[in-house]
Amino acid sequence: MRSILSLSFLAVFATGLPARAQEVKPPAPASPLKTVWEGKKSGWELATAEQRKEIFTFNDGYKAFLKTARSAYFSTREMTRQAKAAGFVEFTSAAQVKPGAKLLVNSRDRGLMLVVVGSEPMASGLRVVATHHDSSHLDLKARPIYVAGAVAMFNTVEYGGIKHYQYANEPMALVGRIDTTDGKTIDVSIGLDDSDPVFVIPDNAPHSDTPLRSRTYQNVLESEELDPVAASIPTDGSLVATVMKEMTARYGIKEEDFVSGELHLVPARMPADVGIDRGLTGGYGQDDRLSSYCAARAALDLKGTPKKTVVAYLTNHEEAGSVNNTGARSEFFNNSVGRLIAAQKGKDYSDLDLRLALRASEVISADTNDGINPLFGSTSEATNAAKMGFGPAIKRYGRGFDGNSEFIARIRGVLDRSSIPWQTQTPKVGVGGGGTIGQFFSDWDMEVIDMGVPLLSMHSTFEISSKVDTWNFYRFMSAFFAQ
Ligand SMILES: [Zn+2]
Repeated sequence: MRSILSLSFLAVFATGLPARAQEVKPPAPASPLKTVWEGKKSGWELATAEQRKEIFTFNDGYKAFLKTARSAYFSTREMTRQAKAAGFVEFTSAAQVKPGAKLLVNSRDRGLMLVVVGSEPMASGLRVVATHHDSSHLDLKARPIYVAGAVAMFNTVEYGGIKHYQYANEPMALVGRIDTTDGKTIDVSIGLDDSDPVFVIPDNAPHSDTPLRSRTYQNVLESEELDPVAASIPTDGSLVATVMKEMTARYGIKEEDFVSGELHLVPARMPADVGIDRGLTGGYGQDDRLSSYCAARAALDLKGTPKKTVVAYLTNHEEAGSVNNTGARSEFFNNSVGRLIAAQKGKDYSDLDLRLALRASEVISADTNDGINPLFGSTSEATNAAKMGFGPAIKRYGRGFDGNSEFIARIRGVLDRSSIPWQTQTPKVGVGGGGTIGQFFSDWDMEVIDMGVPLLSMHSTFEISSKVDTWNFYRFMSAFFAQ
């Protein structure tokens, strides 16, 4: 505002008109030199010195989470640990469902709901922040070992939208679980400890890659070429035997046990601060363990008893279309909410109670989105794109995919009353696309809005977020839960 006034004053001054002529002239309308969006400040500029300390402390916790939570399975494990430390208990009986109760509902160890029971009956609706905590990676095939040249390789299938070339020469860890016919579940993790070996997809040398150089961006590695080296010292002449000898020594498994395994190859690099001022967090899996961490922590840190029952819901398989019974398409959410309402209503409970509670509920579908890239600015439409550091974004896609305007207005109110900087994001038309889990909650007649914070290098092996955005997203979710 100040710059517009001073410029109009200069303009009048420059005309050199006599003072009398200026008096009779109607005041000029405010010059549209800037939109309100251009005048917005970075979250860093709005944060006090005390808040800056909080921002870094919160992000230290987030980085520690990213180190451990390399998949939905290990994220569930870590968040369950944090929830129990914050006083949450597994939901096992109706008697637990009392105002203020802090409950954990596990979704087959690959997802979870963190619930704080409100003072109002659940029939009046819930406040939900729904996220996904799976990330793009490589899955091991059921028969994962083969020999090529002088080495053994792991055979993989890509999961989620990855740019293949980013996975070449990237040290990777093997993480997940194997279930055996005698009923055991064995956790697998190789590559995250300093003393562990890693797995690497070998790229071709520039000395011999002339036949490969005409490959296009996405086919620098073909899908069936996304295989890392698994071993190189033969055992009695067999490299397969070497891989199995090591796997058996570590986990007591045999080759057929891979068939009942969920093993992912994920980037092994640890998260790190990015930039000399440490303002950014770099690390694998931020889409979307960022929103997942914020949502879970907002539920865990909630003080007192909220009016409405609060749910942080971390789902699996979003990057594959939210499939499977641990993905957001599953009936798990409705079944769990139904169980909670039945606990409150006793024998009077009917299916209609669940349906009406869902209709009265509000959902923040939280997921990261891409921020304006400093190198590839042309892939965003700058006037409606999200900027790093400028706060959580309300996503507006058009074409019927937006939240209802009255709900968006309500959320704007929550943001403004909590003095949380925010922005909007609309992807450039025609350059790509994406989806979130919001659609599944809308299908159940819930009020849904898509929100997220911008990332750079989204879906890469080392994504980048702004620490102030992560912190402000957590603050927003806390305010949404507490209202
Ligand atoms: Zn996502």
